[in-house]
Amino acid sequence: MPVLNRAAEMQETVAGWRRHIHENPELLYDVHETAAFVADKLKSFGCDTVETGIGRTGVVGIIKGKHGDGPVVGFRADMDALPIFETSGKEWASKTPGKAHSCGHDGHTAMLLGAAQYLAETRNFKGSVAVIFQPAEEGGAGALAMINDGFMDKYAINQVYGMHNEPKLPVGEFATRKGGVMAAADTFEITVNGRGSHAAQPHRSIDPVVASAHIIIALQSIVSRETDPLKSLVVTVATTHGGEASNVIADFVKLTGTVRTLLPETRDLAEKRLTEIAQGTAIAHGATAEVNYRRGYPVTFNHDAETDFAASVAAKVAGERAVDTGMAPHMGAEDFSYMLEKRPGAFIFIGNGDTANLHNAAYDFNDEALPYGISYWVTLAETSLAV
Ligand SMILES: [Zn+2]
Ligand SMILES: [Zn+2]
Repeated sequence: MPVLNRAAEMQETVAGWRRHIHENPELLYDVHETAAFVADKLKSFGCDTVETGIGRTGVVGIIKGKHGDGPVVGFRADMDALPIFETSGKEWASKTPGKAHSCGHDGHTAMLLGAAQYLAETRNFKGSVAVIFQPAEEGGAGALAMINDGFMDKYAINQVYGMHNEPKLPVGEFATRKGGVMAAADTFEITVNGRGSHAAQPHRSIDPVVASAHIIIALQSIVSRETDPLKSLVVTVATTHGGEASNVIADFVKLTGTVRTLLPETRDLAEKRLTEIAQGTAIAHGATAEVNYRRGYPVTFNHDAETDFAASVAAKVAGERAVDTGMAPHMGAEDFSYMLEKRPGAFIFIGNGDTANLHNAAYDFNDEALPYGISYWVTLAETSLAV
């Protein structure tokens, strides 16, 4: 079964919504216009419930099937844009300089709206579908804010599914994997405290620049000597700041960076050893190190049965050969991970074709992918909630 006929017919309308959202990008939790647009559409489709203001600006719509009680399946899209100056040159490019839908969340929102309209018209399933539109995916943990507002328990959601577009993957193809599919993203700040002096009198100083240089090198051994080579880990020192003048040894140096992992035990190891190595190396140089390690989004962990199910649904839409079930994980992070910590489910990638990469100023969501995304959601609903 290829793309659903009705989904193909909807493409132009849904592309219109997508371009409207694209022209009017909003950041983080400040997605008031987008959320209002989504809520208006859901009401006009006749959703049984439309609740706004969840996790500040999130929206949930409930669509009941016409075949009686059953489970509740949650489908999630994200609504926020990025602080980027768009250079796509498209007719529907951002009207707000410095804000752009460079991650395709406009497309995710439009596809889920299209599916909601279809499902509200047909209702050919038992139980209910919850369509979830979240703010602040790009660094603000909007998914967690919505969860903390209790929507998953309130609407008794049993399973959750998410989707993200993937540039370079051909349109009409899907990719996923079981287990860790996107990384946990943590950040750290190390302050190396020494004692400043005249640069010509190093013996009167405790040089934090030399100590921090040793720390940067020593941290490389967490990946190369302490982690199973088959388990992914990134430790990057991304910035180093210290000192003002070429003839002065500074009092302190600040290092910042990120740690990416795909397994909880690797994450624990990295946090523990980063702290020990920074502090121990500082002491070896007579200095001290304060380490501030902040855990960000957790690993996006796909559950086995639901990943198999999601892949089988994608295969119904796109054909067996168009679904890669063994994709390499991304070391980027995704806050749908918080929903997957609460409920079983799966995250899948949908081909965006030969476009610019995500978070690139020239990026634009590919409207040709819309019927595939809509068909995926509809088929997922009608199969998981089959009568
Ligand atoms: Zn993004
Ligand atoms: Zn994204």
